[in-house]
Amino acid sequence: MRPESDAWNRALTGEPDGLSRIDTPSLVLDLDAFEANVATMARLARERGIGLRPHAKTHKCASIARRQLQAGAVGLCCAKLGEAEALAAEGIEPLLITAPVSAESKIARLIALNARVRGLAVVVEEPENVKALGEAAAAAGQTLDVLIVNDVGSHRFGVPTVEAAVELGRLIAEQPALRLGGIQGYAGRIQHITGYEERRLLSRSAAAHLGAVRDALREAGLPCPVVTGAGTGTHDFDHEGGVFTDLQVGSYIFMDADYDAVALTPDGSRRFSNALFVLTRVTSCQHDGFATTDAGSKCFALDGPPPRIARGAPQASRYGMFGDQFGKVELPDGGRLPVGTLLTVVPSHCDPTVNLYDAIVCVRGGKVEAIWPIEGRGRTD
Ligand code: PLP
Ligand code: MN
Repeated sequence: MRPESDAWNRALTGEPDGLSRIDTPSLVLDLDAFEANVATMARLARERGIGLRPHAKTHKCASIARRQLQAGAVGLCCAKLGEAEALAAEGIEPLLITAPVSAESKIARLIALNARVRGLAVVVEEPENVKALGEAAAAAGQTLDVLIVNDVGSHRFGVPTVEAAVELGRLIAEQPALRLGGIQGYAGRIQHITGYEERRLLSRSAAAHLGAVRDALREAGLPCPVVTGAGTGTHDFDHEGGVFTDLQVGSYIFMDADYDAVALTPDGSRRFSNALFVLTRVTSCQHDGFATTDAGSKCFALDGPPPRIARGAPQASRYGMFGDQFGKVELPDGGRLPVGTLLTVVPSHCDPTVNLYDAIVCVRGGKVEAIWPIEGRGRTD
């Protein structure tokens, strides 16, 4: 299915009662809010002289990647090879895979992808992996770009010390089919610290480590043109030390209940608005004080604070799960909600929620404007 051109899309476009005709549960994007979020981050990056390499793990969607590139992004990040394959099939490039690819079968896929994509890069952390990638790329007559991934505190992966990074850099230089493109360091645990100053201080020490790796590589005569990392939580200050060349911001396009609690500006004012919602309908209300909806735990990733009702129910209402297929709206003062009531609900955590849907229904001013396929949905391979 080509994005923005299928028959279903045309049929819904411009419908005056677009929202009420949307089947539920579905994933809805407020286009005005989304476009403002994309433009705001692009403007900040331009003003601060830093690049953006937005992370596609958040949206897995070529239509969104295309808009981020149009807004000036230097490329897109992918968490997994499968995500990169899905976006590459839609013509999205350059792509950086932000986790090591080491299984033999995956290296074969990586080399096949490298033949099709202009500007594919992958991070590396292990000497064995460097050798395997170098040999596979050489056998295919290719050059493969690699970035050294550094552990800046989360311990998920990454080279732990400056010395080990330089050693790996030397090994990369010995592989004629590999090109050292720079370094990565993503401080994942820091991103969601709610206090602005605490986050800023911790992020500074992560950036300082990356700066030391970059300097040591250069002293060893090795290139380090790219220093990439950071996320939405640290976007406001990661340009300060002059270490990062680009920021891998992801969630800013959608926001979610989790990031709503994080102060992203010094005065706590909101810079990015909620653009992503689960649209659900009340399907039963036989009792005072609560109603049943059609969106349960199969419609929300729940690794965060509870989903928050944005519209459709009284202010103090709370959203919970009524099992995997149904939701429960707890209503204040023993109230009721008529069957058919539409609710828009902010998900707990945007990235894994998007992964539960085939498409995003894009609305503007209450009308459906487009339906974008989520090409990378389910591609955790
Ligand atoms: N970079 C990497 C390596 C990530 O894993 C993530 C998200 O988990 C991001 C960037 C984007 O972070 P955020 O969604 O906080 O902007
Ligand atoms: Mn996330």
